[in-house]
Amino acid sequence: MADITLAEFEKEALAFLEANVERRGVEKAFVWGEGSDNFYREKDRQQEADNAEEAKKWRQKKFDAGFGWISGPKEYGGRELPPSFDRAYSQLESQFRVPDQSAFAISLGMVTPTIYDHGSARAKELYVKKLWRGEMIASQLFSEPGAGSDLASLTTKAVKDGDEWVITGQKVWTTGAHYSDIGEIMTRTDWDLPKHKGLTAFIIDFKDPNVEVRPLKQMTGGASFNEIFFNEVRVKDDMRLGDINNGWNVALTTLMNERASIGTNNSGDNNLLTRVIAMVEYYGLNKDPLIRNQLADIVMNYRIANMNAQRTTAKAKAGQLPGPEGSIGKMVLVNNQARLVKFLSHVLGPKLIADSGEWGTYAWANFVLGTPGLRIAGGSDEVMRNIVGERVLGLPKEPGIDSRSPFKDIKVS
Ligand SMILES: Cc1cc2nc3c(=O)[nH]c(=O)nc-3n(C[C@H](O)[C@H](O)[C@H](O)COP(=O)(O)OP(=O)(O)OC[C@H]3O[C@@H](n4cnc5c(N)ncnc54)[C@H](O)[C@@H]3O)c2cc1C
Repeated sequence: MADITLAEFEKEALAFLEANVERRGVEKAFVWGEGSDNFYREKDRQQEADNAEEAKKWRQKKFDAGFGWISGPKEYGGRELPPSFDRAYSQLESQFRVPDQSAFAISLGMVTPTIYDHGSARAKELYVKKLWRGEMIASQLFSEPGAGSDLASLTTKAVKDGDEWVITGQKVWTTGAHYSDIGEIMTRTDWDLPKHKGLTAFIIDFKDPNVEVRPLKQMTGGASFNEIFFNEVRVKDDMRLGDINNGWNVALTTLMNERASIGTNNSGDNNLLTRVIAMVEYYGLNKDPLIRNQLADIVMNYRIANMNAQRTTAKAKAGQLPGPEGSIGKMVLVNNQARLVKFLSHVLGPKLIADSGEWGTYAWANFVLGTPGLRIAGGSDEVMRNIVGERVLGLPKEPGIDSRSPFKDIKVS
């Protein structure tokens, strides 16, 4: 039983927000051609790092005021209030102009819950509070040049040496490593076991001089990804997550959270659709029956995605375990965005690829170029379809001949 009512809590939260951040005014209606057309401009690495610093400051302030981990355990600075208090706070915070918190998406959405569920007492004591308080940010070190969809094929190895492990290998596509402090790394610890059975997860400190982070430039012009090299990095055994060779279960905790968050966070962006509709009107295309048809299709599908996201949230509110809605939500999001990109290309044509200076045209280029990556991030379309096919429709599983043989016998180097 909470020692504070929801109404008292909301009053307290509102007082904190009003004292510390500016309230969002009534948003001015979007008018095509007015103000900045910087819709979806990619940030450079410095801007990303600066954003992360701002985000950290805000998290620390709200954590210290008792709003950082509202439903979390008191031991780690939480308040042990029911999840409904979390939702009430988020609802209130959305009415204020707080710094962009996307730097924490992987850290708090995926890695921290994994450390909390699988970490040793020492690891939890060292990191859980600092991560929730925003003193630290964590990355996900799963993918490798030879292991993405088939994550269990990874070859970064960890070898036991006394009470330490020595980690050697390479990871790739690591989002945000350049502003992160630690990472959850998946390694192979037993090559004689089948591929899913010989994996072990650890927490790795990016300050270690044997960890080398290099930027990877994307076609959008940004470089939010990294490739990371581990050259005999030593990690204490108490930085292990879960049991030795039980890394696959640890990875599942992280991946379940990843799919759920991608599928629900971006399901229906009203600002985005407002801009598209304004653009169509500006070009006088709103009377064109074909354009109207395509636009109606886009709007309808975004609405449906929104409803699916609401269903996921309602399930969480009712205390039910996350199901396949995360995978479905992710596929729907990607299809909607791809449909929109096709439409933008149709309407804007060459204005999308050459900056003619015309307001609001080339401004879409980043959005268009960033969309293919969504098809891959957090599980590719094909892999999501396999999941839905097997778990929702009950179709037979892929044969997986390599899932039973010792990994050393199937890995072709
Ligand atoms: C925006 C973005 C952010 C990312 N951030 C991170 C991060 O922070 N940390 C991290 O570890 N990784 C990250 N990744 C990497 C991501 O997890 C991998 O790219 C993804 O798992 C796919 O792996 P791959 O690139 O090796 O492609 P592959 O697995 O080689 O796939 C190539 C193609 O084959 C298809 N395919 C593969 N297997 C099957 C199958 N069984 N059935 C049908 N088709 C199949 C795929 O759908 C795809 O089209 C990120 C990726 C993106 C795009």
